[in-house]
Amino acid sequence: MDQYDRLRPLGRGAFGVVHLGRCRQTRRLVVLKSIPMPEEDTKQALNEVQVLRLLSHPNIIEYVSSHVQEQSLVIVMEYAPGGTLRDYLLSLQQQTMEEEQVMHFFSQMLIAVQHIHSLNILHRDLKSENILLDRERQVIKIGDFGISKILATKTSASSVVGTPCYLSPELCEGRPYNRKSDVWALGCLLYEMATLRRTFEAATLAALVLKILRGSYAPLPAQLSAGLRQLVTALLSLDQTRRPSVTQAIAHPAVAPFACRLF
Ligand code: ADP
Ligand code: MG
Ligand code: MG
Repeated sequence: MDQYDRLRPLGRGAFGVVHLGRCRQTRRLVVLKSIPMPEEDTKQALNEVQVLRLLSHPNIIEYVSSHVQEQSLVIVMEYAPGGTLRDYLLSLQQQTMEEEQVMHFFSQMLIAVQHIHSLNILHRDLKSENILLDRERQVIKIGDFGISKILATKTSASSVVGTPCYLSPELCEGRPYNRKSDVWALGCLLYEMATLRRTFEAATLAALVLKILRGSYAPLPAQLSAGLRQLVTALLSLDQTRRPSVTQAIAHPAVAPFACRLF
């Protein structure tokens, strides 16, 4: 760890702190994510490293290395200088994001999640705070694999996880998390980019769950294209069997022209 200088804190998450760091030798800027690692939590701390190491994609934060330092695990990874998608959306204030731009971001998310799912991994924490941007704010990078799950032979995982706003109806009902639950979260993200508002919000968890189970979100503005509105509706199908897979979503007419421009 001596090879890295800690420059400044970037953010604070559920477990530990995230710092901007710099490699003394190469001068490369990196992110240092420190996760406290008491004996019983070691497995969870190592989970993020295990998952990150398996992934390699231009739209996923790149893993560099990991180190045990005192009682923490420090994960070194690619730095995304554009900050989080959440902060970017908030910075737009009342302006909207051009639909072209929304679909440019969303198609990158889909391509990245397709890669994640193809390796039998569920992200389980897709939300705008965990989507990062490059300096020009044109390339998105999915981060925070802290509660991701590598599926062995099953196609679902049973623990209830995730951020309440992006919880899918099946999770609200105590059913297992599966690929379609990530698709639901992607639907929430598309809605959030198109409207600059969270899809589901309520003062209490109980009220939130009720809204999610009813699928009651404010209608999308009529000036958005019919294709985009239809895609949001499909992604936010209450019945997970009616929700498209990520691969099907990439083939959707609202996405395909953008997805085919990537890489
Ligand atoms: P947690 O699991 O605690 O939520 P995250 O990995 O989401 O931790 O990081 C917390 C915050 O730190 C993010 O919301 C973001 O503000 C910042 N951050 C994390 N990773 C990066 C990165 N690679 N580049 C820039 N900022 C980052
Ligand atoms: Mg996070
Ligand atoms: Mg996390």
